[in-house]
Amino acid sequence: MIVAPGSTIGIIGGGQLGRMLAMAAAELGYRCHIFAPDDAPCAAAVAAAHTQAAFDDAEALGQFAAAVDVVTYEFENLPVAPLAALGAKMRPGARSLASAQDRCVEKEFVASVGGRVAPWRTIDGPNDVAAAIAALGLPLVLKSRRFGYDGKGQAWVRDPSEARDAWDAIGAPAGIAEAAIDFLAEFSVVLARTEAGECALWDSPRNTHESGILRRSELPAGDPIERQVGEAQAIARRIADALGHIGVLTVEFFACADGPLVNEIAPRVHNSGHWTIEGAETSQFEQHIRAVCGLPLGSTKRTARQVAMTNLIGDEADDWAAPLAESGTHLHLYGKGEARPGRKMGHVTHLN
Ligand code: ATP
Ligand code: MG
Repeated sequence: MIVAPGSTIGIIGGGQLGRMLAMAAAELGYRCHIFAPDDAPCAAAVAAAHTQAAFDDAEALGQFAAAVDVVTYEFENLPVAPLAALGAKMRPGARSLASAQDRCVEKEFVASVGGRVAPWRTIDGPNDVAAAIAALGLPLVLKSRRFGYDGKGQAWVRDPSEARDAWDAIGAPAGIAEAAIDFLAEFSVVLARTEAGECALWDSPRNTHESGILRRSELPAGDPIERQVGEAQAIARRIADALGHIGVLTVEFFACADGPLVNEIAPRVHNSGHWTIEGAETSQFEQHIRAVCGLPLGSTKRTARQVAMTNLIGDEADDWAAPLAESGTHLHLYGKGEARPGRKMGHVTHLN
């Protein structure tokens, strides 16, 4: 299926990922229509149209899908059934969505294609935590099975007495316990896959998190990441192939002493790929648009020896003047308005 420039792309989700997708689509001559529940999502400020409706409003989704030429998403916590009904018009498809929105389903799926994951147990109530401690040891991390992002819905258990508070803290009807992974570093594989199964991969950045939120992505990633990237890329390709994924897919990895271990999958463009806007010949956003519209993929070659992307979180974005004054530095602000603590407001990419 080819969706030619001039057509309309529907994007479900109105955050910064949708905003940067819409900007890349506009450069290729497309119009974008955003579907999001908020009244002024930052993606709609750079798009041709906005439908304001809940993500689970099947009737609104149907009308939205009828008004556009292809539907994609920047956010994976969406009801699968109404979107599966869109069939081939939705890219990536429902299988990618379903496999990435529940952490237990995701781990079983990754293991089924030969990827290693942290030892884990399903947690359906506070009483399951003791059994998880017996099986996995301490410390362990409790996470909500669904709807987690930026470290939200997570609580560490370092002592059996913390089990009850941790369960209450995640505030979810169903959870997962994961063994603590003693990793050497974190990195991600970001790839794009076409309908025909062609894959393009970018270099893998070293990712540093603070308080569960990505702080920086840096290239070159150095050791031990560079030694593990080949194996990680092979796992990521198997994941993308098994899903029949169309578009950009991200796999977050822990680099461990005994090799790469999959942390999680995002069936979409990802924060650890923002560096590609200036740091690669084709950005993850343009590549996603190319893939879902059936255009040929572009080169993923790095444009600079060193690239570093730093997120601007909360009121850090108020200091926009400093990066503007620096050579080799590119400022991105998402136009989100209120700078709440922990909210991703923008990012800065430095090339060297
Ligand atoms: P995002 O959507 O931003 O990727 P998330 O809420 O889905 O975040 P995770 O990726 O599961 O969260 O975890 C966030 C970070 O917490 C990881 O990048 C890692 O630094 C740490 N972490 C998560 N799980 C484990 C684990 N089992 N062992 C050690 N560290 C972990
Ligand atoms: Mg993560």
